[in-house]
Amino acid sequence: MSSGSGQKIVCVLYDDPVAGFPPDYARQGIPALSQYPDGQTLPSPSSVDFTPGHLLGSVSGGLGLAPFLKSRGHEFIVTSDKDGPDSVFERELVDADVVISQPFWPAYLTAERIEKAPNLKMAITAGIGSDHVDLQAAINRGITVAEVTWCNSISVAEHAVMQMLALVRDYIPQYGWVMRGGWNIADAASRSYDIEGMDVGVVAAGRIGLAVLKRMKPFDVNLHYTDRHRLPADVEAELGATFHPTVESLVSVCDVVSIHCPLHPETEDMFNDELIGKMKRGSYIVNTARGKICNQDAIVRALESGQLAGYAGDVWFPQPAPNDHPWRSMPNHAMTPHTSGTSLSAQARYAAGVREILECWFDGRPIREEYLIVQGGALAGTGAHSYSEGDATGGSEEAARFTAS
Ligand code: NAD
Repeated sequence: MSSGSGQKIVCVLYDDPVAGFPPDYARQGIPALSQYPDGQTLPSPSSVDFTPGHLLGSVSGGLGLAPFLKSRGHEFIVTSDKDGPDSVFERELVDADVVISQPFWPAYLTAERIEKAPNLKMAITAGIGSDHVDLQAAINRGITVAEVTWCNSISVAEHAVMQMLALVRDYIPQYGWVMRGGWNIADAASRSYDIEGMDVGVVAAGRIGLAVLKRMKPFDVNLHYTDRHRLPADVEAELGATFHPTVESLVSVCDVVSIHCPLHPETEDMFNDELIGKMKRGSYIVNTARGKICNQDAIVRALESGQLAGYAGDVWFPQPAPNDHPWRSMPNHAMTPHTSGTSLSAQARYAAGVREILECWFDGRPIREEYLIVQGGALAGTGAHSYSEGDATGGSEEAARFTAS
């Protein structure tokens, strides 16, 4: 634990909207939730200095942390310039105590960067998924890694369901006909199916995967899942979901597979040529977990050959994806940039969660167990449940190739 004032907090956030900050908001606010689905309480900092529903994840939003950090006497640097050795992030890192980063615009904390940051004591993920940190290096250095468990799990589950339907019903090309001014029904219908009756499976039934299963049940599909932790028997029975001990077994029976495990050495490159070859011809994959769980070139090959009928998701590697990233132009995809977990609704929860973590840190109080990924030189909390030791940041320097258009 750490305390006192005068700490340096470096926060990497995505750029403000092209048309300026703040944007025009479409709605007046967001619903107030009382608790998460498993009963976990929402983030509970002493107070917040932002309006829930406002844009907090871009540089000018600053996660609403500036007044709080200033009042406590800390230095707060916010930047979007995160890639390459001359980036603001790399310059400011050298004497940073705490780094905050969002998975949507990840500040890759590789072993080399950790090496350059002798004061670094904590890396906070403003969101869920801390694979952008070399967890092995954090373990070795005794750095605490924490994230805001649950903050956007339902946001992602909603996005995954949307993308499953978009793929199976072939929504994006149909929308294209409307925009182009045609009425080509035969073309628009030629790849469109009902999801009813299909076999739909999730890889991992943690917070997001289970929420996807629950949301897909009313579509009258056959549900499947694999996970290294089996769901309680009553939950399985209520869903009518079939457990598969291996991902190979799951993919061999499914028409649609949605991926919801974290990225760690066990899951990196899981969907390679070999595994995709075991899927039914004409299957769909939705990946809102992490880009690197799927082999980039194998996905392109499978879409081109027809082994996959479609691929969607919102996670890429690296991020931001360079403009020549093959997933931008491969056939039959319905990709979004990494947005599922950064809806305005989710931002309010993870901004409050980051503040809760910081308050605990400064005051020497324990951070919630479920927020912990690494602590005290070992995987801890959610990290111990859902990750394996090791590093999944390899190749992240490629992010420097991105140029904004
Ligand atoms: P969670 O910890 O509740 O669930 C993760 C599940 O994965 C656990 O049940 C765990 O047992 C399982 N798992 C781990 N390794 C596995 C393996 N090798 N095979 C099968 N199952 C395995 O986490 P969550 O809230 O459900 O989030 C899951 C992941 O989704 C995050 O780690 C992150 O990578 C991703 N995510 C993406 C976004 C987004 O904006 N796209 C937002 C939030 C989370």
